Amino acid sequence: MNRQPRWLIVGAGLSGLALAFELKCLQAKIDLTIIESANRAGGKIWTEEQEGFRFEWGPNGFLDSKPSTIDLCKKLGIDGALIPASEGARKYRYVHWRDTIQVLPNSLFSFLNSPLLSWRSKWRLLTEKYRHSVATSNDESVYEFAVRRTNKEIADLFADLMVTGIHAGDPKQLSVKAAFPRLYRWEKDFGSVMRGMNMNRQLRRKEARRQQTKLEPVRMWSFPTGLRFLVDQLTEKLASSIQFGQIIQKIEKISPSAVAMKDSNSANYSDTEKKQPAPENPTYRVEFSDGREQFFDGVVLTCPSYIQADLLLSLDLELAKKLQEIVYNAIVVVVTGYDRGSIGSSFDGFGFISPQAQGGNILGTQWCSSIFTDRAPSGCVLYRTLCGGVARPEIIEWSDEKLLETVHQELARLMQIKEKPRFARIIRWPKAIPQYLLGHTQRNQQIQNLLKRHPNFYLSGNAFQGVAMNDCTENALTLAKQIEQDLLGQTNN
Ligand SMILES: Cc1cc2nc3c(=O)[nH]c(=O)nc-3n(C[C@H](O)[C@H](O)[C@H](O)COP(=O)(O)OP(=O)(O)OC[C@H]3O[C@@H](n4cnc5c(N)ncnc54)[C@H](O)[C@@H]3O)c2cc1C
Repeated sequence: MNRQPRWLIVGAGLSGLALAFELKCLQAKIDLTIIESANRAGGKIWTEEQEGFRFEWGPNGFLDSKPSTIDLCKKLGIDGALIPASEGARKYRYVHWRDTIQVLPNSLFSFLNSPLLSWRSKWRLLTEKYRHSVATSNDESVYEFAVRRTNKEIADLFADLMVTGIHAGDPKQLSVKAAFPRLYRWEKDFGSVMRGMNMNRQLRRKEARRQQTKLEPVRMWSFPTGLRFLVDQLTEKLASSIQFGQIIQKIEKISPSAVAMKDSNSANYSDTEKKQPAPENPTYRVEFSDGREQFFDGVVLTCPSYIQADLLLSLDLELAKKLQEIVYNAIVVVVTGYDRGSIGSSFDGFGFISPQAQGGNILGTQWCSSIFTDRAPSGCVLYRTLCGGVARPEIIEWSDEKLLETVHQELARLMQIKEKPRFARIIRWPKAIPQYLLGHTQRNQQIQNLLKRHPNFYLSGNAFQGVAMNDCTENALTLAKQIEQDLLGQTNN
């Protein structure tokens, strides 16, 4: 192939943007087109400013527990603009427990003094590293894993907290192997989660020594103007490749001879390209909702998996059906801004999680103006309360008035707030976070096997190997390197 390979990326959320950017950074010379159905990039990531309040629609920040997003910021030259969460937000996270707000232990001393667990459970947790226990199934739920490694009381509280805080899912349905691969691996590799955690700390300490820096605790990061800054920077770098507001209807694989015929008529190709022979590899025909068609040598779908399934219906029904099995939860983000003076008990910290087993109306609240600076006008605070999740999907149907009243009443009771919010905004995500249910790892493997039928065709995005921003950026880099290797292999053959 003499001309540059023409590749399509569908979706300009973080997964699509990061993949496109990494591909541009690598040696592979690819002619990239990014198709985004919305009129903006970022997908779940978006920051809005209203009446002096600056709030996130989706993620509030990303952790530095993995280097991938920070590394992406370095490549973009914007790492200098990153801001860490406050010291208070790093140290203090809370739990809504028996109608009070209790601090989650962050040291051995606070753990031993915490009212959250009985002495029996504290002992169970402290001795976890000496416990030998074997999983009875190949794919345990987060809850089963926690009970087996500790006990029911700990699982009821901590498995719920972990799952509510990250996936807003059901600890009895989520696969520990897929949703918390680190915990799973720590037990496999070191015989215990605590041992794995200690090993991980030692490795991080060793790495810090190697780099002649101090071992810093894990922190959350954002930008002074919010996460939209990252999206804007990526969009700017990729501006010439992105097309917004475009809907793809169908993707088909076509034979090279059909491409040669189409190519000679296509307005998409330059005159010199029209004379090029058709690509040797199978090529994809993409049909848009306005009737246009375009041809690509390779395709990566980074849109949500249920959309990937729709797009694949005519190309591979079996693959489409596998993708349809991945379910998403619904989340409502209720943003409230209060006068600081009206808050009776203000906390310095990240916020609190409300375990879903308690059956309450909220999943938790992030104290955004205590986490990052410049989130609220002077004299005010900004909170973000998440509602819905797998346990309460019906909440997304509630009216704005009912949602706001419910959230305000809950916050007013727990934090002694005396006045109504002076600012409010509600963001609904009907399909928010993919749920890595039992069987997820096996399904991923089946999807990968089915994809082998379609050369130069990949699926990415947060539906497969991690829902955090770090997972999206890490997977984007891995996939970019794989595409580069594939292309080099195809050129050399
Ligand atoms: C409420 C909430 C809070 C979160 N909090 C955190 C957090 O604090 N930290 C963290 O690390 N992660 C968090 N996450 C997770 C993280 O935000 C997401 O996993 C990540 O942003 C997903 O990126 P993505 O590109 O894979 O998918 P998306 O962001 O969903 O992007 C997919 C893109 O595809 C586009 N698209 C859809 N259909 C089509 C089509 N037919 N054609 C073309 N384009 C299409 C969409 O418009 C979108 O732009 C949170 C998520 C939510 C919902």
